[in-house]
Amino acid sequence: MQRVLLSVALGAAVLAPSPAHAGIVEDAVAATAHTPDELVASFDNAELPGLAPEGPGPSITGNAELDTRIRTIAETRGYERHPEPDRELVVADGFRLQPEAAAAWEAMQGAALEAGHSIRITSAYRSPVTQAGLFRSRLNGATDAAIDHVLATVAAPGYSRHHTGYTIDIRTPTHFLHNFANSDAYAWMAADNWAVAKSFGWLPSYPAGASAAGPDPEPWEFVWIGPINIICGDFDPSPETTFCDTLGSTFAADVEWLRSEGITTGCNTNRFCPTTTITRAQAATMLWRMEGEPAATSAIPFLDVPDNVYFTEAVRWMVELVITTGTSSTEFSPHVELTRDQFVTFLWRYAGRPAPAGSHQFVDVGPTSFAADAIAWAAGVRVTTGTSATKFSPVATTTRGQAAAFLHRYDLIP
Ligand SMILES: [Zn+2]
Repeated sequence: MQRVLLSVALGAAVLAPSPAHAGIVEDAVAATAHTPDELVASFDNAELPGLAPEGPGPSITGNAELDTRIRTIAETRGYERHPEPDRELVVADGFRLQPEAAAAWEAMQGAALEAGHSIRITSAYRSPVTQAGLFRSRLNGATDAAIDHVLATVAAPGYSRHHTGYTIDIRTPTHFLHNFANSDAYAWMAADNWAVAKSFGWLPSYPAGASAAGPDPEPWEFVWIGPINIICGDFDPSPETTFCDTLGSTFAADVEWLRSEGITTGCNTNRFCPTTTITRAQAATMLWRMEGEPAATSAIPFLDVPDNVYFTEAVRWMVELVITTGTSSTEFSPHVELTRDQFVTFLWRYAGRPAPAGSHQFVDVGPTSFAADAIAWAAGVRVTTGTSATKFSPVATTTRGQAAAFLHRYDLIP
């Protein structure tokens, strides 16, 4: 989806016709209005893919007391910890970045060139070890004032946004560091409340006017968080639009139906997480809520379904109706991701195992598949139209957006 949006964004300057869904996202991104503090707060590690859990802080000077003091002063300035990537980075403009950020950089750099601006990356991913060397090279003495002086321009290792692979420093051939803010390229990116930068998913990292952001303002540094996170960072739910992250999604109407029926409350505040894979526990809960949360009395044979968790009664009901027999006689595997053939099988059993109305057109669903009847039924009643004209992609995982569509279409069966 990012690729689609980026190609549209390239043409946005000339108002080229765009696919409706990408246009909705573009309009919403352009309409966001963040304060400097909101811009700083928009960079949230938890919302970005490809990041490892935060490890212990790296050694900075080798002196534990001094390192603790450095971290304390850094956090007082507003610095936050940032994790490292847990996947391969890719190279863009000679620097290593997360793949989404690299694609977004190349698109924005290309658009800049079309608009007559030459922009280059001068720094991107940086490891905590490299950051530690940089920090020590600037530190002159060990007083609090000396530490604070360095922290005004250099993050303590473990606290640099560059560790994530989502952060870049930009320059033009003639304008760099603070002077970048005086360049035509900067004005192009910043116009109309950062409309151009935002259309590619970029935000200023440490803009002027922010309070306690960590370093002093850095007009040359930008973070990629993507258009959806930009929209979510400036979002007020309305009766029509409950979730900020389904905007422009193929499944937006399905998700709104799911919410209006009380089948979902989302994955997080204001979010549905439509591109996240659904787990077996979540799918069970959605089916059970769709049925009106009926009480059941069967014993649950699965050792991995505790009492009194959100999916306990849903699984009990599924056991009673033999919608599930578990992944083994003693396991339901609640947190395992559900494949598309498994999801449709749950739905088919829930529907009472109806006979398929005809044959399906999917070449990737064999007649001996455990889900053959379920998928043939789903195709016949238009619960699925496949992932293409000839494919169902049975062993692909089911996204939460796809699950919403399956359930909504099931509800629409005459
Ligand atoms: Zn930087």
